[in-house]
Amino acid sequence: MSEILFMAPVFKQMIWGGNKLGSKWGYAIPGENTGECWAVSAHPNGDCTIKEGTFAGKTLSQLWTEEPQLFGDTTGDRFPLLIKIIDANDDLSIQVHPDDIYAGKNENGSFGKTECWYILDAPEGATLVIGHNAKDKAELEDMIHNGRWEEFLREVPVKRGDFIQIDPGTVHAIKGGIEILETQQNSDITYRVYDYGRLQNGKPRELHIAKSIDVITVPAKSVEESVINISTDAKNTMNQLISCNYYRVWKLDVDGSIEVSQDYPFLIMSVVEGEGQIDGHSLKKGDHFILPNGFGKAQLQGKMELIVSTVA
Ligand code: ZN
Repeated sequence: MSEILFMAPVFKQMIWGGNKLGSKWGYAIPGENTGECWAVSAHPNGDCTIKEGTFAGKTLSQLWTEEPQLFGDTTGDRFPLLIKIIDANDDLSIQVHPDDIYAGKNENGSFGKTECWYILDAPEGATLVIGHNAKDKAELEDMIHNGRWEEFLREVPVKRGDFIQIDPGTVHAIKGGIEILETQQNSDITYRVYDYGRLQNGKPRELHIAKSIDVITVPAKSVEESVINISTDAKNTMNQLISCNYYRVWKLDVDGSIEVSQDYPFLIMSVVEGEGQIDGHSLKKGDHFILPNGFGKAQLQGKMELIVSTVA
């Protein structure tokens, strides 16, 4: 009988971070300005530790290498996904990610980054930056070099429950007050296009203008193709949010009980609201775990919302 792998997250302090990961989520955060919880991660910049059981104290990257059967012998030299909770107390920088080919060539063999966001919380009237308004490469360069940010950036309204897919080459930024769960490729490569002229320790943070211009898709994908509105109200069923080349993501609202059949290489689960149980093990908001390969049927009970994912 295989065991559930419960994760001990890693926290990141950011100039735009806040304290909600402590006050709302109950995590022991390292201090104010905590922006990111790396909840399920095997990345060298934040490798999660297994909390309990046979593998207690081991990191997820160690398990990937030493116990490949837990992940259905999925091919690849590193764990493919990274799950984060992001609490933006202030606006994040305007950024873009490369794809696998560009990152492999220019970033020491790193993966590129495709990511998606489930909006956990957003203030009334909240907006995000997704895409841009440049019609061709020449206009893109002119808008960036001449700081025509108001014309360049495309802001779209968002609310709790929206789901957004961000392909490589998509200009994007989370704005202050928004809380998301991010499912992404296991990569930490971000090109910063614009940082609102902010200073960190008296200096502006580095921008990556040339690389950004290399990778930004022109023209941008339409808003309709980026912001996905799926009815996720159905209880006790796996509501698929997306299936792309890298991951599949579902929303699962448990109200009462449901049996989930773990037929995937592995299944990542994050409790984002409420509380309950899985196979008698108590769960609460902020718990993240992996059902390993061959786990079989899991019984979930209680009243809670989960975001679930696996590799494509
Ligand atoms: Zn991003």
